[in-house]
Amino acid sequence: MRTPIIAGNWKLNNTISEAVALTTELKGSVTDCTGVEIIVAPTFTALHAVSDVLKGSNVRLAAQDVYWEDSGAFTGEVSAPMLKDIGCDYVIIGHSERRQYFGETNESVNQKVKAALSHDLKPIICVGEQLEDREAGRTETIIEDHITGGIADLSDAELLSSVVAYEPVWAIGTGKTATPAQAQEVHSLIRKLLTDAYSDEVASQIRIQYGGSVKPENAAELMAQPDVDGALVGGASLQAESFAEIVKSTL
Ligand code: PEP
Repeated sequence: MRTPIIAGNWKLNNTISEAVALTTELKGSVTDCTGVEIIVAPTFTALHAVSDVLKGSNVRLAAQDVYWEDSGAFTGEVSAPMLKDIGCDYVIIGHSERRQYFGETNESVNQKVKAALSHDLKPIICVGEQLEDREAGRTETIIEDHITGGIADLSDAELLSSVVAYEPVWAIGTGKTATPAQAQEVHSLIRKLLTDAYSDEVASQIRIQYGGSVKPENAAELMAQPDVDGALVGGASLQAESFAEIVKSTL
């Protein structure tokens, strides 16, 4: 039985005081939610303050990116031990915006995933095709490439500490959600790829989130798909009420 996992990616939004206010409201709205893992991913600057607000709550903290070296001459970067030190349990890696605007590749995703795991941070590994890939019938090839590249050389235990997020790029921030059937088709493909690369036992335990314009109105039907184990939520995670409703759609 896979525990549902709902993560809010706040992207480049919220000052520290806004982040604290949002976290405080959200924490209050989900106190009774058990049997679901709840995560928020603020900007680096708000992590410390949000970490303090979350202490003793059922909401976990994630960062939106990490660098693969622990320390050294890498101006502007933040490392896995630093994120662990600030209270993060998770880190989002390979988000399509990082692939699109900041040159993230499968190789850098894989280095970051390994660095996160070696410091006991659970990676949320993002994969997903662009609209032109889907239209050209290349969805399977792109997903296979992202999965095999991103998780290369992980042990069974490391894979089981990871989460995969399927985020079709054409559905992120566009209001266009994949239909439940489209999401299920790719989630089951991902599980099959993991079965082939690892085993049925491992693949059946790993959680696969869907991301792309998830809202309170469409969350329940997406979560009802057999291979959809949660959601990575952008826009709708910026309002405590809508994010809490998405969390409750899994209960
Ligand atoms: C995301 O940023 O991962 C995302 C899915 O965004 P949105 O929910 O706004 O489409």
